[in-house]
Amino acid sequence: MSDQAKDKFTYAHSKFCVGEAGKTGSWRTQRPQIDHAKCTPSKNQRPSCFICWLYCPEAVVSRTIPVQIDYDYCKGCGVCAEECPVGAVKMLDEKEAP
Ligand code: SF4
Ligand code: SF4
Repeated sequence: MSDQAKDKFTYAHSKFCVGEAGKTGSWRTQRPQIDHAKCTPSKNQRPSCFICWLYCPEAVVSRTIPVQIDYDYCKGCGVCAEECPVGAVKMLDEKEAP
């Protein structure tokens, strides 16, 4: 087995790797919430946009309809909310999140 195959996190900067920061549910202070009424793929029922998927540094956003976020590994950085061109992502305080 090669060294690369032994440690999937070692090469995280050159290859997408889900959960580089480990499980974040216990330390995340904010979480993104997608308003699917505003989110372009859900609104148009077509695979388009996915800018949040492209920019998420943890690779935890799906390229599906509807777009989904894996909260086990999302670190709450807010990049998706910042980059969403239609303002469909809101950051909620973790304590207020449903
Ligand atoms: S960037 Fe915004 S509109 Fe585009 S897929 Fe993501 S949440 Fe939806
Ligand atoms: S807040 Fe958004 S960009 Fe940041 S890790 Fe979570 S889903 Fe990805």
